[in-house]
Formats: sequence, C-alpha cells, structure tokens
Amino acid sequence: MTSDGLVGRSRSAPDEPTPPAAADAFLGDPAGNAAYEDAIDRARDCLVDSFATADGPYAGTDHETLRERIDELTVFPDEGDPLAAVLETVGEDVLADSVRVHDPGCVAHLHCPPAIPALAAELLLSGTNQSLDSFDQAPAASVLEEHVVDACCDLFDYPAGADGVFTGGGTESNFLGLLLARDWYCRTRFDRDVQTAGLPPEATDLRLCCSAAAHFTAEQAAHHLGLGEDAVVTVPTDDERRIDLEALDETLARLESEGRHPFALVGTAGTTDFGSIDPLEEMADRAAERDLWFHVDAAYGGACAISDRLRPKLAGIDRADSIGVDFHKLFYQPIGCGAFLLRDGDRYRFLERNATYLNPERDDAAGVPNLVSKSTRTTRRFDALKPFVTFNALGRTGVADCVEYVCDLADAVAADIRAEPALELCCEPALSAVVFRYRPDRSDAAARAAGADERPEPVSTAALDRVNRAIRDELLADGEVVLARTEIDGTAALKLTLLNPKTTRWDLREALQAVIDYGETIERDRGTIDSA
Ligand SMILES: *Cc1c(COP(=O)(O)O)cnc(C)c1O
Repeated sequence: MTSDGLVGRSRSAPDEPTPPAAADAFLGDPAGNAAYEDAIDRARDCLVDSFATADGPYAGTDHETLRERIDELTVFPDEGDPLAAVLETVGEDVLADSVRVHDPGCVAHLHCPPAIPALAAELLLSGTNQSLDSFDQAPAASVLEEHVVDACCDLFDYPAGADGVFTGGGTESNFLGLLLARDWYCRTRFDRDVQTAGLPPEATDLRLCCSAAAHFTAEQAAHHLGLGEDAVVTVPTDDERRIDLEALDETLARLESEGRHPFALVGTAGTTDFGSIDPLEEMADRAAERDLWFHVDAAYGGACAISDRLRPKLAGIDRADSIGVDFHKLFYQPIGCGAFLLRDGDRYRFLERNATYLNPERDDAAGVPNLVSKSTRTTRRFDALKPFVTFNALGRTGVADCVEYVCDLADAVAADIRAEPALELCCEPALSAVVFRYRPDRSDAAARAAGADERPEPVSTAALDRVNRAIRDELLADGEVVLARTEIDGTAALKLTLLNPKTTRWDLREALQAVIDYGETIERDRGTIDSA
C-alpha cells in the first residue's frame, strides 16, 4: 500500500528551491557525465600540451616574477568562465612554470615521475571520492585498503597479526610510529594511559635515538608528541653514512646511566641525502635487548622490498615494530601515498577511538572495517588504489626493474664522477642518490690558471661552498638541470636523486658537464671580478 504522502506533492510550487545552473558541473545524470568527459579530455590535453611544448626540467622563472604574474589571477570572480578558458590560464600561468618531473634533467629530490597506471587510478579515486574514515563512505575501498596493507605486510615479511594504514607520507608514518612507541612505552613502563591521562612525569626523560642522518621528521614528531626536539639523541654515522653501532651502544649506555628513558630506536632504510641504510639487524638486536620500540623509516629504501636483488639490503626490517614506507618516492606514485605498517596490530589499541557517527563499538564487534582508528586523520583518500593499479598493470617485476635500473644508474654516474677530475664523489651510492661536489681546484680552468704542470692550490671550504651553491642556483635559473643541494659538515654539495626509469647515463653525463661548465664560468667570472 502506498500513500501519496510526501512525494505526491506538486513539484512546481513557486517557493520550491530548484537546483542552480552550476549543478551542471556535477556528475550524476547524462548531462553531468558528458560534462565530465569533456572536462577530463580538456585537462588531459592541457597536460599533454604542456609536456609537448616544454624544453628541459624547468622554465627557470624566479619566484618574484611568478608572484607578480600569479597575483594578477582572480581567485573568487563573481561569474565563472568556460572551463576551457580557465584551463588555458592554468596551462600558461601554472603548468608552464611547473617542474617537469618527467624530464631526465629533473634529478633533485625524492620526487618521482608518477607511473601512468597510477595517474589513471588517481582519476578514479578522486572521481569516486571515497573517504576511508568509515565503511559506509568507502565500502570496497576500505576492504581493498586492508587487502593492500596485508600484502605490504607480507612484502616486509611481517607475521600474521600485522596491520597498518595508508598515510600521506613518511612524515605521518614516522609520527604514527613514534606516537605508538611513546604510548606503548608509557603503558608498559609507567602503567600510564597517555591517551586519557596525558604524559607521565617521567616524560621529560623520554629519549629516542636515531642517526645524525635520519630525517628531520623524527625531531618534528618529538616536538608534536610533547617530548620536545631535545628528546631526540642523534648518533654519529660511519663512513657510509649509516648509524655507528659502537656510538649507538655508548649513547644508550650513557642515557641509561643518566637515568633517562630511551624508548625508541629509529633506523633509516634510505637516508634522504645518501640513500644509506642503517644496519637494521644490529639495531633490532639493540632494541630487543633493551625492550625498545624499533621503528624503521623506509620512506625511500622500502622500495627495495619489491626486488629480489635489492631486498637483502633491508635485512632485519621484519623485526621492526613499525615501518614507514612511501609509495610517492621510489614506488612511482603521485603524491601523496605512503603506508604505515605495524608488526603487532594489537598495539593499535593505543590509538583506539570510537565515534558514534563513524565507527561505533558495536561495528567493531561485527568486524566492520574500522580504518579511522588506525590513522591520525579522519577524512582520508583512497590512495591505496594507486599502488594496487600500478602493481597489477606493471607486475611486481616491472616495478622492480625500474627500482633496480635507477640504482644501477647511480653506480654508473658515480663511476663517471670518480673518473672526472673536476668532480668529487662524496659517498658511494647506496640506492639511487649521488652526492658530489664540483672541485674548482681540480677543474681545467683552475689548472690552466695555475700553469700547465702545477696542481692548483686546494681551495678553502668557504670557496667550495660558494661555488657549489652558485652552480645549483644558476642551473635552476637557466632551467637546464634541476639538481639538489645538500651540506656535508656544513659545506655545500650537489645531489642527484635518480628515480626516472627513462633517464639514461648520457642524460646524466650532460648534467655533469653542465655542472662543470657552470662551475668554470663562475670561477672565471669571479677571477675577473677579483682582479678588476
Ligand atoms: C621523504 C622522507 C620523509 C618524509 O616523508 P614525506 O613523504 O615527505 O612526508 C621521511 N623520511 C625519509 C627518509 C624521507 O626520505
């Protein structure tokens, strides 16, 4: 039996709210679907055109010029323009001055060219806009994320009962690891429930240890966790930029003798600058001896797990209490895409939270996916779809081939640097990052200036610092090569981070030649100025 009830009323009452014209900009009916196809086609053309017309990794525009031009753009115009016109503006004013991550000369940061299958997945996950904070906002997506997380746990040889969640990247993964470490430690050592009661009085003596080459987000997390950056005790590194185990033992013994409470060890599998991988097995031993939480920051090097050849570099990572791995670095996913993995999933109890509107306790009892309790976020993207699509499209071996290739390329370019007198290799590459310097005292220009037979005088570190900084800035300004600068013991060095599987050794030889040419020009110009 039906009643006229609500739906029987007239649709055309004069005071009825009617959908606005802008409702055409939404999917859901044939007109919206057609508008979507048109919009995506246009966006795609805009992107492909920007690649087709581009030359080199960056146009070289400086920030002042960009600000002047971009400040002219309206943000909230009263009336809209056709999408085609808006996209044209974006193409001209934004895309044209974007760094082109696909260019072989874009070799600065851990900033990858995203794989095409992942870009297709990105379209689907933003188009469907599933939100992983509750099952009813993301049914299949929640279950697929759980499934991908399980597969990642297997990839790192975690035992049954491991768990995890997708994150926005290494920053969030490191924070989650250290948050759980802190709360686990305070519960087991001080019988303190930090989630409800806050930090215990002993918190001022909590310490975490990592190498001096660890990522700054360890300090950032300590700050955000209410421990303060001083709670991070950095341990010196060895010649290969890995944590020095003797120094680690001394540090731990000293902290204990001082009455501190070291609660976590952070190992890095792939330091941001050198790609160096800490001795994870030995660190796991230390953590086990003292019952500390062992977190491994594998934001960069975690990708080795996909390759049979490179996986041994990560030996011991399965013993970590938690692992952070980024998919938006050496795993070729568009930003952001990372995962946090927890060896003993029961330890998620330190984060548990039930909101009646999202994940009431009775749902937990029924086994409904409950991802909001595993994350520090609420609304969260379905980023797990991207690696899922990529791995299925390229195969594990396809991705592994890319990772292996860029590591081989790093070895090849390191050999080229070693063979070039005007360049100095700062460290053997451990993954795909190569840190080096231009050495003015060894360049041809300097040699000629010093006379044919004499070796030029070694330059001061101040001069080394200056010229290497200038090289990087001028290369960026000319848009020829985008490489990174870093510092070793306070002195500038240059860095190539190789991620692009299309980049060749010849591309990199051109980049190195550009470094030498710019270095010599800078030296010569300075010589002219000095003698003028
Ligand atoms: C990039 C990086 C991070 C930070 O990760 P985001 O994804 O940028 O948040 C942390 N640790 C290491 C070793 C990294 O390389």
